Amino acid sequence: MKVINLIQSSQKTIFSFELLPPMKGQNASRLYETIDELIEFNPKYINLTTHRDEIEYRQLENGLLEKRTVRKRPGTVAIAASIQNKYGIPVVPHVVCGGFTKEETENMLIDLNFLDIKNILALRGDGLKSESYFLPEKNGHSHANELVEQIVNLREGKYLDPDLKNKSSLDFCVGVAGYPEKHAEASNPDTDLFFLKQKVEAGAEYIVTQMFFDNKKYYEFVKRCRAAGITVPIIPGIKPLALMNQVTMLPKIFSIDIPEEFASEVRKCKTNDEARQVGTEWAILQAKDLIANNVPCLHIYTYGITDNTRQIAKTIL
Ligand code: FAD
Repeated sequence: MKVINLIQSSQKTIFSFELLPPMKGQNASRLYETIDELIEFNPKYINLTTHRDEIEYRQLENGLLEKRTVRKRPGTVAIAASIQNKYGIPVVPHVVCGGFTKEETENMLIDLNFLDIKNILALRGDGLKSESYFLPEKNGHSHANELVEQIVNLREGKYLDPDLKNKSSLDFCVGVAGYPEKHAEASNPDTDLFFLKQKVEAGAEYIVTQMFFDNKKYYEFVKRCRAAGITVPIIPGIKPLALMNQVTMLPKIFSIDIPEEFASEVRKCKTNDEARQVGTEWAILQAKDLIANNVPCLHIYTYGITDNTRQIAKTIL
């Protein structure tokens, strides 16, 4: 089933969570255990992240550096299908522009369709660590709106090769990312909103937000989106803080604020276990308030940790 239909057919807030595919070399058993621990809370769908190739330099015995291309978490397409078949829950694989040509993306979409995947979260992805800004592949997409367009074109059977014969249409429900506290690279919040609207106009049917720790930021964002004419559902993304150092790391990585009221509680913690409990309690407060305000869905960024997500789900569902 499509995410948009799941949202529209539910009278109350639905629940979903986001997982990462296993690290290269690991099998999928830990991932399945994670899902087994969360399945009783009736998630309506599961998101699965995608990770592009990265460049690594390894020192050789002669002291020279060898450049290697590595994908640390391969397998999103296969695991998405495997989870969907095993649990009978729609899976939303993330499809990113970075590191892929349009042709490779088209082939991935064809694979996803064969595997009966009906949903996609379309993202640009981040630049390589070695690049100071995002560089698309030659013949790849520069921004997520172009990826949305490519996916939506397939609904009308528009493939890259106009001479292709006997074409079938591929019908995916597409979501995109939104940033209540502005994307790090955007010149200002209004420019960011302008480009968000462009993604919706290209055919995105819902928005999932970057994590935030102050619900006011989400409510203001929704208000600004509505004023700008963005009418699609806006799903809040909640990340239960799980480690003491995340109070400084998360703002740096995701360009978000952590409210002082919360940060000062985390600073009092002596261990990561204490910080995780404080983080879980904060996420529960956030989730209860969001549900009371009738958000369409709660998207929980689990990062593969289940005890805090279970605690949140038990309290709110
Ligand atoms: P875009 O929408 O392309 O926006 C990127 C920047 O460019 C913004 O500053 C925007 O204002 C600007 N912009 C947008 N369109 C245009 C345009 N046409 N012309 C000029 N400027 C433009 N990353 C991964 O690698 N894998 C994942 O699985 C993944 N999952 C995510 C899930 C969620 C819910 C979220 C919120 C983020 C996720 N990310 C993931 C991170 C995401 O890829 C990064 O935040 C990335 O930097 C931006 O992606 P985007 O799709 O928002 O890009």
